[in-house]
Amino acid sequence: MNNQTQRGDELNLAHSHALFKEALRLLPGGVNSPVRAFRGVGGEPIFIDHASGPYLYDADGHRYLDYVQSWGPMILGHAHPAVLEAVIQASTRGFSFGAPTQAENELAKLVIESVPSVEMVRFVNSGTEATMSALRLARAYTGRNKIIKFSGCYHGHADMLLVQAGSGVATMGLPDSPGVPAETTGNTLVVAYNDSAAVARLFRSYHREIAAIIVEPVAANMGLVLPQPGFLETLRELTRTYGALLIFDEVLTGFRIAMGGVQEWTGIVPDLTCLGKIIGGGLPVGAYGGRREVMTLVAPAGAMYQAGTLSGNPLAMAAGIATLTELRKPGQYEKLEQKGQLLSDGISQAIHESRVKAQLVRIGALFCLFFTTQLVVDYTSAKTSDTARFARFFWSMLKQGVYLPPSQFEGCFISLALEDEMIEETVQAARVALRECG
Ligand code: PMP
Repeated sequence: MNNQTQRGDELNLAHSHALFKEALRLLPGGVNSPVRAFRGVGGEPIFIDHASGPYLYDADGHRYLDYVQSWGPMILGHAHPAVLEAVIQASTRGFSFGAPTQAENELAKLVIESVPSVEMVRFVNSGTEATMSALRLARAYTGRNKIIKFSGCYHGHADMLLVQAGSGVATMGLPDSPGVPAETTGNTLVVAYNDSAAVARLFRSYHREIAAIIVEPVAANMGLVLPQPGFLETLRELTRTYGALLIFDEVLTGFRIAMGGVQEWTGIVPDLTCLGKIIGGGLPVGAYGGRREVMTLVAPAGAMYQAGTLSGNPLAMAAGIATLTELRKPGQYEKLEQKGQLLSDGISQAIHESRVKAQLVRIGALFCLFFTTQLVVDYTSAKTSDTARFARFFWSMLKQGVYLPPSQFEGCFISLALEDEMIEETVQAARVALRECG
């Protein structure tokens, strides 16, 4: 197999094409999660054969620098030796017991030590389960039903949250999904990201009815949108004043923006936090946690029911422990910041030289390119990005051996496995892609 991407040439994707053709008969849309189908950029997905360090290798033998990282978890790079060894070791002791194990305590301790708001944690199997359960808990704790979410924020695919959601829902143009009964979303109040005044108005109108605000404290499912100064502070104040809970969905930002997520970076501590992705090191894990007083309402300590056959799965716990242990080593987040800076300086310079109407938004090891010059503060401004130009940029990058998320409305991820020269290579490819997409 040829492991080198033919830079600049058309890719020969015959194996991917054949696999996709077969998959289309077997799986809806040929995939098990919509954004993977490449509909956001047109064309067909590449099928992955294997991955190692910073690289993905497709079924046709091409190699790509990976800026998707399984949508975030692979912050150490793929098949990191310490994580691999931990999973192999764990697997020799059995795959799943449906009974408690020491590994769950160990991962819980790592999460509690790292994330400021978390005094107790419950492990689940996905980010969707984490947000769904955290909202059930907030409703149980407050005895109220309404929740506030922000348009363009994605919190998984639970019915009540599929309202003006970002990510794949944005790409597919399905802000509301058929099959979600109106009764289920009737208690979901939606406002624009960064619109503190609108949140204040909702609290004035429904102050004894709102159980919680759920927010991505850095929004990474409509591209990447940063909280404006004062936004998160206002959410914290309003929830305190009106007796509602503040839930940070840090499924994407947890252990990425900083070990303790956005709450460590800003010092704003929510009541509950949802986690996923990195805490499982690439295996299926989610978690929700928060103050002891709230978490002790979760069954069997309390009456709020939530359970899972595979929750706390030993292989997933082992991958999570190994990943967080690596991330706790001194200097890791400084390294991520340095890599992020190198990449954003390079690409921003390339944008400037190309005169393409585009901008790069970045925080730490998370970035996104918008093909608009408008300041992006919410979903409406994010949607001013020229998605057709994004698609041309995407395909040019892919042909040059750089794998970006196949949708405008996703973040791009930097891993510790990326060496500086690979970042230079990416910047060089971006220079060419900006020319080709203009
Ligand atoms: N919350 C956020 C912020 C997410 O980005 C995602 C997934 N990208 C989820 C929740 C849902 O996680 P999962 O796909 O594991 O269900």
